[in-house]
Amino acid sequence: MSEVLRRLPKVDRVLDHPELAALALDRGFARRAAVAAIEAERARVRAALDADPSATPEVPGLDAFVTRLVAELEALLRDHPRRVLNGTGVLLHTNLGRAVLSAEARAAVVEAGGNCALELDLATGKRGSRMALLRPLLAHLFEAEDVHVVNNGAAALLLACTALASCSDPASPGGIVLSRGQHVEIGDSFRVAEMAAAGGVPLIPVGSTNRTHLRDYAAALDAQPGALILWVHQSNFVQSGFVRQVSLAQLAALARERRVPLVADLGSGSLGRGIPTGEPTVAAYLGEGASIVSFSGDKLLGGPQAGLLAGEAEVVARCRRDPLARALRCGKLALAALHTTAATHARAGGPALPLHQMLAVELDVLRERGERIAAALGWPLDCVRDSRATIGGGSLPGEDIASVALVAPGPATKLAAQLRAGEPALLGRVRDGQLWIDLRSLALEPDDDLLAALG
Ligand SMILES: *Cc1c(COP(=O)(O)O)cnc(C)c1O
Repeated sequence: MSEVLRRLPKVDRVLDHPELAALALDRGFARRAAVAAIEAERARVRAALDADPSATPEVPGLDAFVTRLVAELEALLRDHPRRVLNGTGVLLHTNLGRAVLSAEARAAVVEAGGNCALELDLATGKRGSRMALLRPLLAHLFEAEDVHVVNNGAAALLLACTALASCSDPASPGGIVLSRGQHVEIGDSFRVAEMAAAGGVPLIPVGSTNRTHLRDYAAALDAQPGALILWVHQSNFVQSGFVRQVSLAQLAALARERRVPLVADLGSGSLGRGIPTGEPTVAAYLGEGASIVSFSGDKLLGGPQAGLLAGEAEVVARCRRDPLARALRCGKLALAALHTTAATHARAGGPALPLHQMLAVELDVLRERGERIAAALGWPLDCVRDSRATIGGGSLPGEDIASVALVAPGPATKLAAQLRAGEPALLGRVRDGQLWIDLRSLALEPDDDLLAALG
């Protein structure tokens, strides 16, 4: 056994190898990387010998070992996340960074990368708030008395539920009353109810999966008068059949009567304009009587990753004052992009953000473009097909949008892997053994880049 292990590459010989030296890495960094790679090799050999003591596992020579290590380190040091051409047909794709920022918002991020008047009032020279201008701008947009911004939608929900429950009667531990029909799971196995309760406020589930009545909420508040009511938008699924949910307006009346906050987790944060109807807007939720609404900045709002809380002034103020607010606060890069995105929404002239532009492209335009690209690639014209795109980002479940796709000739899986490895990388959707490249989610990408990826 030790004979095989002795043949593993030695750290100093790896470090002195010209191929590794050419990377000009910090010596300590390179040593730790080399040691980790050798240890991984040792573990592999040990496991093979444990499984079969008579085996003679392959041990890489020095050159082969260094070549592999250098490739791994180059991948590690390369800029990440890499640009991807989104041909999936999902306009807000969480794995691809959700909303595409406008050119103005991207420029604002670069500008804010340097020193900037983040918490300084340039007129007076005095310390200011990073939210001073964003608050009124967002409040007007969402028709809310006040707005607060944190890191993401989950943080907004957590902050609201923690701050608003902990401010209730100190004699009662508070609680979060939530219908079992609204125990929603979003991406990556995260559950909205667990995020809401992560600050230590107990969850009080009411009703059943398919039916919840007003009396269920009332009974929960009888037992726990300091609890708040949480409403979670069934953002990514629909229920039908023998179902019943209490309306938001009915809950608002109950919340007012019992003097408890009504927190509504909307998720998507639509302003309405340029977005298919069917997805509730923040203003509609507030109009129905929610005390505060939580939603993401990078879904239907079309901005950066951020979490927004819009609602009654006094309720938002309680959230802003909570110690968690500091722990969850938003950084300057996201605030800059959010500000620019909000300013775009505030201007007249219709949908101007990439998400709205992608939604607005006419089918004929997509089809003509598909034919042009197919011709340039020498693909048959019948590879341009009608297809369906979706908004994604946990909004408008079951609704899709007419689109056009290029269906690549040849076997899908191999081609999909090649395109992912390309420069720029391109992601499509495999359907019935073929690779579909949706042109609506690619509507704003230059032809040249598409041709470079597909050529
Ligand atoms: C997306 C979503 C969240 C989480 O928002 P993130 O910005 O991803 O943290 C919470 N609740 C609902 C209903 C959502 O759709």
